[in-house]
Amino acid sequence: MFCFQCEQTAKNEGCTKQGVCGKTDDVAELQDLLIYAVKGLSLIAHEGRKAGIQEEAVNRFTSEAHFSTLTNVNFDRERFFRFINECVQLRDALKEKVKAKVKAKGGKVDFDHDAANFTPAETVEGMIEQGRKVGVLIPKDLNEDIRSLRELLTYGLKGIAAYADHARILGKSNPEVDTFMHKALAATLDDNLGADEYVGLVMECGQVNYKTMELLDAANTGAYGDPVPTKVPLGVKKGKAIIISGHDLLDLEQLLQQTEGKGIDIYTHGEMLPTHGYPKLKEKYSHFYGHFGTAWQNQKKEFDNIPAAILMTTNCIQRPAKTYQDRIFTTGLVGFPDMPHIPGTGKGKDFTPVIEKALELPGFPADEEKGHVMVGFGHKTVLSLADKVVGAVKNKDIRHFFLVGGCDGAKPGRNYYTEFVSKLPKDCVILTLACGKFRFFDMDLGDIGGIPRLLDVGQCNDAYSAIRIATALADAFNCGVNDLPLSMILSWYEQKACAILLTLLSLGIRDIRLGPSLPAFITPNILNVLVEKFNIMPISTPDEDLKAILG
Ligand code: SF4
Repeated sequence: MFCFQCEQTAKNEGCTKQGVCGKTDDVAELQDLLIYAVKGLSLIAHEGRKAGIQEEAVNRFTSEAHFSTLTNVNFDRERFFRFINECVQLRDALKEKVKAKVKAKGGKVDFDHDAANFTPAETVEGMIEQGRKVGVLIPKDLNEDIRSLRELLTYGLKGIAAYADHARILGKSNPEVDTFMHKALAATLDDNLGADEYVGLVMECGQVNYKTMELLDAANTGAYGDPVPTKVPLGVKKGKAIIISGHDLLDLEQLLQQTEGKGIDIYTHGEMLPTHGYPKLKEKYSHFYGHFGTAWQNQKKEFDNIPAAILMTTNCIQRPAKTYQDRIFTTGLVGFPDMPHIPGTGKGKDFTPVIEKALELPGFPADEEKGHVMVGFGHKTVLSLADKVVGAVKNKDIRHFFLVGGCDGAKPGRNYYTEFVSKLPKDCVILTLACGKFRFFDMDLGDIGGIPRLLDVGQCNDAYSAIRIATALADAFNCGVNDLPLSMILSWYEQKACAILLTLLSLGIRDIRLGPSLPAFITPNILNVLVEKFNIMPISTPDEDLKAILG
């Protein structure tokens, strides 16, 4: 295996024997084969569109399959075996339709790339061997900068796939997003493209990701209302409980519906925290209680012997410890071998096994007070304060804004973000999002004239909200985003962060500080391009960075 798609990759070079995330060699090879097959399917879908054929089943599958290979989503080899077979069936059926349509118009189309033609092995072991021949390092003699750009594009597309999948689950899709996914995935197989073409596609990937996050924002707020400031308890209440992790709002709603009146409290975990701010979730369900734990990488410690059931809805699962493996469930695209899985997509899921497990377990023995945090500062709420914020900047009550957000992870270097926020002068406001906030989310930072100094904008996809806030501020001050008193201090871990970073770059945002380390898949030449064009830089120390920004 060879995988270097995430920040914790071994030696910051690549995982070669087993993933640091726990991904086994065989699952890595199956994922490589699935990505190869999806690229083959995309080649045909891209040609199909030119001939007037586009199929929702293909669009949906492309997002689902690509999302399933994102870090910490699915570790189940049987699931990838089924995905690869499904992909090839879709591919071959579409190929026939496209060929027939083109022929009917008097033309001819050949799909001679192996990705569009290979026959999958009949066994998992056979597919693993096929995967070894199509991985990241194949072909061996490929120019390393081209490899780097192809992988950057592939990982950005994984981020888009995740957000597009969430939006689709809530009934929203955008043909422009599906069209780009197929075009760009097909382009990664094209040996005629050079670095300039790939740089163009990478920037387009950032623009399309912005549209995808906008689509998801519309899907979330359309279904559950615009988030409003909400106080969320961090302790526990005596009684039976289910902890729901991940990002899927429809799963959360269905769980809340199915547990109503059953004497079970529902707690969020990880990236589910901001869901407490959605009016149609928080106001409707009195048993939607609080938030449990911190970021994904602490789950083994925090779930240890937990007297509650756990439901993992999207990415962020780790190999469970024995002390809770009998009470953890997966759903959606998440999978782990031998872990009970709640089947289905979107509406109509039956969470009875999770509910029965929660009722069987003793629940929390006593109330435990651990304070609270505030969530719900999406673009609607923050922009409703715009006049107040602009006034505070003009009066010099607010000196500077910092967007400190992104992913959390296990590396010790991530303490930087805790230290950075704790050292910020009291006339600075911090916007945050995604699970990187768990490094400082419970700090009491007070307010500036009634404006909270720490504003939780939401999940990682709510980077859309943060961008809306930044552009509205720039409009209010009649300047560009780069001219605002705003600095972006970002942390990355997996591929959704790659997509968001590409969005920021495609919007021309400069001077981003990125940590805790730079991606292993970016070659020195590609990094130079990013530095020259966008002045992107690695984080250094909180003191040095603060001095450089604030003087
Ligand atoms: S996802 Fe990350 S940790 Fe897992 S195998 Fe790939 S690079 Fe390694």
